[in-house]
Amino acid sequence: MTVTGTSKQWINRADRVVMKTYGRYPLVPVRGEGCRLWDADGREYLDFLAGVAVNNLGHCHPQVVEALQQQAAQLIHCSNFYHIPQQIELAEWLCEHSFAERVFFCNSGAEANEAAIKLARKQSMERFGENRFEVITAQASFHGRTLATISATGQDKVKAGFNPLLPGFKNVPFGDINTLAAAIGPQTCAIMLEPVQGEGGVNVPPAGYLKQVRELCDRQNLLLIFDEVQVGCGRTGTLWAYQQQGIVPNLMTLAKALAGGPPIGALLATEQLASSLGPGTHGSTFGGNPLMCTAALAAMRTLTEGGVLDNCVAMGDYLRQRLLQFKDKYSFVREVRGQGLILGMELDIDGGEIVVAAMEQGLLINCTAGKVLRFVPPLIVSQEEIDQAIDILDRVLATVSV
Ligand SMILES: *Cc1c(COP(=O)(O)O)cnc(C)c1O
Repeated sequence: MTVTGTSKQWINRADRVVMKTYGRYPLVPVRGEGCRLWDADGREYLDFLAGVAVNNLGHCHPQVVEALQQQAAQLIHCSNFYHIPQQIELAEWLCEHSFAERVFFCNSGAEANEAAIKLARKQSMERFGENRFEVITAQASFHGRTLATISATGQDKVKAGFNPLLPGFKNVPFGDINTLAAAIGPQTCAIMLEPVQGEGGVNVPPAGYLKQVRELCDRQNLLLIFDEVQVGCGRTGTLWAYQQQGIVPNLMTLAKALAGGPPIGALLATEQLASSLGPGTHGSTFGGNPLMCTAALAAMRTLTEGGVLDNCVAMGDYLRQRLLQFKDKYSFVREVRGQGLILGMELDIDGGEIVVAAMEQGLLINCTAGKVLRFVPPLIVSQEEIDQAIDILDRVLATVSV
């Protein structure tokens, strides 16, 4: 669709027909390339939000675009009643490049987590009997917006108004092995964590914590589920975040960046666990369709073959250093944290106005957990683009009065 009309006109039209489930910024993106985005009025932005960690290869990466164009002309959808070569190839690729032996495909992060929760319950029922169904998650976690995944999520704001929630979830503080161990009971079947929390404020657990959780799970026959929807697919500098911990999970969920922009979700499992979800136990109409799987194959090959992960590590270090300079310069900057190219800058003040001011100056970022500015640029970001973003942010921070 060729977009004509001004941003203001589109915003007025949205106001009449689109459900107001989001507090949207007054920005109407119509075109993207690499780390840049253009709005309906022709204004250019440096995109350090990347569709919330979706566009890891930047906007409209040529290899993803070409894969989509070719596949769209051949076969878009055909149903999981049949075998789908593109889905098979993507599953093979994911198994070759991870701990997993089987993959289930869906369309989003929430759906991938739903599948993980269902699998965890079912295998536990089969192995240990009824009444062993509880999944322990972390405070400040985020696992999605469906009823099961808001029940799993450790943030009250996503749950408000939706009672009764799904029973069988418990939240413990993230990074504290003792309270986690104490929370495990006879009903517990799994522990589900983000290796680095994204929406909860870019929280990195203490060194060794995830390994201790793995040991705890082994001792108590619990599944360890890693929600890598945000931090998988290269975001932390390795293909999967768990690779930096010297451990493997039993189940891993992916979505966001897996197809380089288009919607897809996946649950990765070992052979033994996957056998719990036999024919007829779970499904998705769109999951694993030829179009999305082709895009994902192109995205994953591009991610791992072109030095993108090395760039993520190098630029992650560089952006962190540049953000740390703000800690010395501005008294209201408290901490910089993260891994690879998911970085958070915690402030003593609300970050909302800074996000808006940065947008007006041509830089897109967002704010999580009220006070944490989140930086998740495409993993192909250059040093010049980081310098430019830092200059804009510096100008914005200089106007803050505390
Ligand atoms: C974004 C996100 C989800 C939800 O993904 P959707 O595709 O929006 O359903 C789940 N878990 C984590 C860690 C996420 O960042």
